[in-house]
Amino acid sequence: MTTPAPITPDVLTLPRKLPEGGPVNIIGLTREQLHDALIAAGTEPRQAKMRVGQIWQWVYHWGTRDFAAMTNLAKDYRRFLADHFTITLPEVVTRQISADGTRKYLLRIAGGHEVETVHIPEQDRGTLCISSQVGCTLTCSFCHTGTQVLVRNLTAAEIVGQVMLARDDLGEWPVPGAPRDETRLISNVVLMGMGEPLYNFDNVRDAMRVVMDNEGIALGRRRITLSTSGVVPEIARTAREIGCLLAVSLHATTDAVRDRLVPINKRWNIAALLDALRAYPGLSNSERITFEYVMLQGVNDSKEDAHRLVELIRGIPAKINLIPFNEWPGAPYRRSSGNRIHAFADIIHDAGYPSPIRTPRGEDIMAACGQLKSATERARKSRAEIAVAAGLEPIVNQVQRAWRHGTGNPDAETAPSDAGRPAPDRG
Ligand code: SAH
Ligand code: SF4
Repeated sequence: MTTPAPITPDVLTLPRKLPEGGPVNIIGLTREQLHDALIAAGTEPRQAKMRVGQIWQWVYHWGTRDFAAMTNLAKDYRRFLADHFTITLPEVVTRQISADGTRKYLLRIAGGHEVETVHIPEQDRGTLCISSQVGCTLTCSFCHTGTQVLVRNLTAAEIVGQVMLARDDLGEWPVPGAPRDETRLISNVVLMGMGEPLYNFDNVRDAMRVVMDNEGIALGRRRITLSTSGVVPEIARTAREIGCLLAVSLHATTDAVRDRLVPINKRWNIAALLDALRAYPGLSNSERITFEYVMLQGVNDSKEDAHRLVELIRGIPAKINLIPFNEWPGAPYRRSSGNRIHAFADIIHDAGYPSPIRTPRGEDIMAACGQLKSATERARKSRAEIAVAAGLEPIVNQVQRAWRHGTGNPDAETAPSDAGRPAPDRG
């Protein structure tokens, strides 16, 4: 038997280190999971559905964090909840506000790991960019997150928690009796922060179900956009099980260039990716695929690239977001010139596709696309230093041993599914 190639020798997948036994965190449980958890803890089965509805409204509509405040529940039942459950969110470590109003939150999650969440206010809407993993196991050569050494999947609680903490900070929970402000500060959620959401499918799906639920945070499915680097087998599932809009990180028009920029292309190439997108159910002009295309000087920004791009996506209802490359310390690329980007955009636009050029937001606080990487990770120098800080020495040894012996990932339960993961290749 041939031994599987490790995901990448740069990455350490981490155990989740969640407390075992003890109270259950309500956050991130789907209605069904909460129902079962209430019964398992001793709630009368006949009453469980009603209790789910009541608790759900307190937690996700009103933003309540304290069982004692759930005043339509009997006092005894509130005590019972407090004995068996918690309402636990990640901890906000820092909040930075950019000159343009963009906010970046650094959050600490179980095990002491960190992720970033970004809020981008615009005239008539506000977008929250959330993370799905600590770091990312993929190694797109232009992406800062892909250089992070420690990687673990976020739990559904940690994903929903990002939305709840941002609502706390923006003061967006409804106030009883006050008229509801229809312009929501968080009107859209994009899974475009740290991580590859389709390598953490189940948790992302469950979290989005919570966020979409009409009796809670109530963001419609069309207000959620999931961005993937192209995990082809999970694309149809995304439509079926989440139903949100899809953004795809294309970034190149030939396999040779995409192999270098987005190494997952070696597993699922451009043709395979586009086939999966053509089959994405419900595609229409109102529900188009967003193609993301990072503009890298001299790499993927020629007029020929623009023409090839138009040919490639023909027949797919699409919009192409052109993202001027956001630089980060040590990045191996430069941003294309403004002229180049405009010439590229014009060709796509003339072919009938919207081709907005994204204005980088929050650059002064390193909050722009692809710049996310937790501050402490950024400051650290070596793998050993990271391991020591995370209290991981034994795990590092385990992982290294596993790599040496070619057994791949020793942390199968918590690591993202490794099926078909491409070998690393930094362009
Ligand atoms: N992992 C997912 C989602 C997170 S990245 C994905 O790759 O799609 C969100 C977007 O930012 C992706 O399109 C990604 O390619 C892009 N991006 C990454 N690094 C960037 C950088 N330095 N400048 C501009 N865009 C970048
Ligand atoms: Fe991961 Fe996306 Fe960055 Fe690629 S661009 S390394 S998939 S976060």
